[in-house]
Amino acid sequence: METRRIGSLTVSVVGLGCNNFGMRIDEDRTRAVVDAAIDAGITLFDTADVYGGTKSEEFLGRALGGRRDQVVVATKFGAPLSGEGSGGASPAYVKSACEASLRRLGTDRIDLYQLHFPDQNTPVDDTLGALDELVREGKVREVGCSNFTPAMIDAAGQSASEKNTVSFASVQNQLSLLERRHLHDLLDACQRNGLAVLPYFPLASGMLTGKYRRNEAPPEGTRLANVPAERRDRVFSDRNFDIVERLEKLAAERGHTLLELAMSWLAGLPSMGSVIAGATSPEQVRANAASVDWTLTADERAEVDAISAPEA
Ligand code: NAP
Repeated sequence: METRRIGSLTVSVVGLGCNNFGMRIDEDRTRAVVDAAIDAGITLFDTADVYGGTKSEEFLGRALGGRRDQVVVATKFGAPLSGEGSGGASPAYVKSACEASLRRLGTDRIDLYQLHFPDQNTPVDDTLGALDELVREGKVREVGCSNFTPAMIDAAGQSASEKNTVSFASVQNQLSLLERRHLHDLLDACQRNGLAVLPYFPLASGMLTGKYRRNEAPPEGTRLANVPAERRDRVFSDRNFDIVERLEKLAAERGHTLLELAMSWLAGLPSMGSVIAGATSPEQVRANAASVDWTLTADERAEVDAISAPEA
């Protein structure tokens, strides 16, 4: 598996998103998914304190067990946790959230500690100051942000250089062939500030695997069979099916699958860190790990861009 850099960290170009753990899948199935990921060469595991009502971190920590040092563990803080934490990014909260995540993960350090959402009530200087202390204490190796606009990335970069604190090494934003608004502004901000990108919902919750078909009920047991109809209808729009069908045809003409196109297109973007697709089975993890071998030519990228261009 090809590797990429996130600050001082080295990660596999396909990572594993862990938000299904403790929510869609139980501890035994989580263990099977984690085992398959490690066997397939995946070394980045992305979770959050809030996933699975805090169960994701616990399941992941136990599933890794003695293999902890072979992998890179990324988690997040900042979302409110029912009964456990108010959320946000104030220095006091950052420190208490970090201790709680270390405990749940059963580890002595978090490799990549990410602010889940911007906190309008806390200046980024204060958050970076607290994260800097965690790095100096050895509890955190690198820090990242998530759901940040390009302007927020620039502001955080400026703060880190003025205050001489740790700076964000990554940004985790929604990004896929179905959701690519402001892509170039984001990549430019990453380039300027030296951040790696971790795209979330890289498969648009499974739409970009081709498992959902226009005018057909979603297959039983899948994610989009189990969400409120309103959310499903938003994903199952005519525009999305138009794009999916055209991309699937383009991929097939070149001997590839839609999954390979969705993952390889992301992997080939500048500043890409790791494509953190989620999975609910070992088979999915194996398919995802093997899906980034297609190096798209400039012409192929242009064709894909024309098909998947965001709405004006
Ligand atoms: P995703 O990667 O777009 O979709 C994952 C879903 O697609 C899986 O649960 C599975 O659905 C299906 N799938 C995956 N591989 C498949 C394959 N090979 N064949 C068929 N179906 C396949 O969405 P995601 O997991 O929600 O997002 C990825 C990660 O991003 C998360 O795990 C999380 O770590 C992170 N995330 C971050 C934020 C943030 O605000 N920072 C927000 C959301 C997610 P089924 O369940 O139907 O099997």
